Amino acid sequence: MDYAGSTPVDPRVKEAMEPYFSEVYGNPSSLHSAGREAAEALSKAREQVAGLVNAKAPRNIIFTSGATEATNLAIKGVAARSKDKKEILISAIEHISVVNVCRYLQKQGFTIRTVPVDSYGLLDLEALKEALSEKTALISVMYANNEIGTIEPVREIGGIARDAGVPFHCDATAACGKVPIDVEKERIDLLTISSNDMYGPKGTGALYVRDGIRLEPLIHGGGQERGLRSGTENLPNIAGMGAAAELAGAEMEREGKRLTGLRDTLIKGVLDSIPESYLNGHPKKRLPNNAHFRFSYIEGESIILSLDMIGVQAASGSACTSKTLEPSKCLTAIGLSHEEAHGSLQLTLGRSNTMEDVKYVVDNLPGIIKRLRAMSPLAPKMES
Ligand code: PMP
Repeated sequence: MDYAGSTPVDPRVKEAMEPYFSEVYGNPSSLHSAGREAAEALSKAREQVAGLVNAKAPRNIIFTSGATEATNLAIKGVAARSKDKKEILISAIEHISVVNVCRYLQKQGFTIRTVPVDSYGLLDLEALKEALSEKTALISVMYANNEIGTIEPVREIGGIARDAGVPFHCDATAACGKVPIDVEKERIDLLTISSNDMYGPKGTGALYVRDGIRLEPLIHGGGQERGLRSGTENLPNIAGMGAAAELAGAEMEREGKRLTGLRDTLIKGVLDSIPESYLNGHPKKRLPNNAHFRFSYIEGESIILSLDMIGVQAASGSACTSKTLEPSKCLTAIGLSHEEAHGSLQLTLGRSNTMEDVKYVVDNLPGIIKRLRAMSPLAPKMES
């Protein structure tokens, strides 16, 4: 139940990748027939990814080594082309891959303004409008939060950005393939897409770049990917990402409904059976596979270790920041104290999970929480 940490490569995706290791091994830039065959595979994958987010044309998709690189290209790419505008607006719950790019740009003279979110993690749209100025070079707000699962008011943010004439970057790593994304309707100018969060191979991602948005490349060389990302394309992985995007799009409605059913049973089961348990994130505007709880008086890590012992893999926060002892920035941004943030448990569902799995957790978690509270110096005596 840690699909936010990683998803397995779907067997159908693996099958789609197979030919591009040894059979179709041409360089997509070569002029001979083997090269053309590889170029066709590359075009197909570009169409598949473009289709998932309703990009106007496949050329708007630039393949990268993953979400982190796509975000680096988007934010640094805009910043490097911005002569007079030196301010970037981000939400208070952005992923570390956005935050650390901004920290880097701060050293280059940019001002980063952080727009607050409410207790559900929804961006404060009025604060966003107030923070905008003639100096704003870019707005970057994620589509959905990877920890608490809250889905942001992206269409409204896109409207605000468009009215102000400011490019809008959106990190859709956590949302892509799970909920419908439409860069046209939502007026997104730059969209970070990840392969390994939608059952595709790791080390591959893409940046959607709207026509007319001018970016400075990070990687210079042979001019692949319209000059925005040089280097011979990783064709097996890109073909895999294309297949993963197509499958996610085709199965989104059915799988979304199934996961929402499992998620809601899990949330109700946990909240009903465990005293002083709370849901983090928005009750409705949340990813179909995300359940994020907090329990008073205990630490998330001890819950995770206890769950692991009974065969359940879970998380207390983002895998990307699990090495720090600091509480999650996202959880403190929605107003939780350090103690509350530390008592969090994130369960994210995926293709392999069944109602049986959910029932197993609902049956076993109350005992685990009770036992941990009995040992906790923070718990009131009566609590155990
Ligand atoms: N953005 C978000 C919201 C994420 O959850 C992650 C991690 N899955 C990333 C960006 C970075 O992805 P990657 O490590 O695959 O580049």
